[in-house]
Amino acid sequence: MKAVRIHQFGGPEVLTYEDIADPQLRKDQILVRVKACALNHLDLWVRKGLPGVKLPHILGSDVAGEIAEVGEYVSGFEPGQRVLLAPMHYCGHCAKCVAGLQNQCREFTVLGNAVDGGNCELIAVPAANVIPIPDSLDFVQAASVPLVFVTAWHMLVGLAGVGPGQTVLVLGGSSGVGIAAIQIAKLFHCRVITTAGDETKLEKARALGADHGINHYKQKISEEVRRITNKEGVDVAVEHVGAATWDESMRSLKTAGTLVTCGATTGPDVKIDLRHLFARQLRLLGSYMGTMGELHEVLGHVFAGRLKPVVDRAFPLNEIRRAHEYLEKSRMFGKVVLSL
Ligand SMILES: [Zn+2]
Repeated sequence: MKAVRIHQFGGPEVLTYEDIADPQLRKDQILVRVKACALNHLDLWVRKGLPGVKLPHILGSDVAGEIAEVGEYVSGFEPGQRVLLAPMHYCGHCAKCVAGLQNQCREFTVLGNAVDGGNCELIAVPAANVIPIPDSLDFVQAASVPLVFVTAWHMLVGLAGVGPGQTVLVLGGSSGVGIAAIQIAKLFHCRVITTAGDETKLEKARALGADHGINHYKQKISEEVRRITNKEGVDVAVEHVGAATWDESMRSLKTAGTLVTCGATTGPDVKIDLRHLFARQLRLLGSYMGTMGELHEVLGHVFAGRLKPVVDRAFPLNEIRRAHEYLEKSRMFGKVVLSL
């Protein structure tokens, strides 16, 4: 099959489009012909080098395609079915996995991180990872959904427990997680304030349901939040930007507010003033992906059309270097997807 592999860590030039052997299908697995695979910032981190990644390695977490072959021990699926893949790897039998907390499994990793991913024509995965998709979604749209939507759902619903009437600050409203978080917060009847780097992106974020937009290059986020909330602050801040916005996110919280974070795109080193943490009774929550149950829950809303995938553009798989360069420039609104 054709695949893109990295044989060393580095810039986009290490992405190599080449012929490799087809994956061997185990009897408890399903072989999927990949039609689309979305990019995430994780692809950039893995390409540049993360511990636990064995070379050569295939990137790509978010896969949609068609079932090519069903393993002997698997029932309930047939070749030709249109599906997407749960973007995670877990053991399936430890205490955490059987309790439905797959993202706390000791073997847990994201597809394309410590295990090979979907930047290739064929991928073999356990049946539990395979989820049929409705005809209303094309493969590019379907591939754009799983990682960012399960991440945002776990942050807002699973951890922060958002409810009607709350105010939610979504940092980076034009990113994949931001776009999912805005829509999920609106689904739960929250008021949403979001940030982006230009007026066009803010306009698109408002079209998705955001009530207020802050231009983070021209305005100070916490000051705008104070103005919008009548000095009260927000109930929940959804962080994934990291060092560049951390202080502003903390300052934007109301007393006993919650900051939930799933990333550090602009860097991991931040300061926390402990006096503010305890005196203002803030809650800081770390979030990593989500559970299989949460994935099914959020996909139900996507399949019903209540949450919408947002695709910026698609590149053919053999132009993956251009796709990585495009993602690194952060000009997009929504997901960048590879199509096969
Ligand atoms: Zn496990």
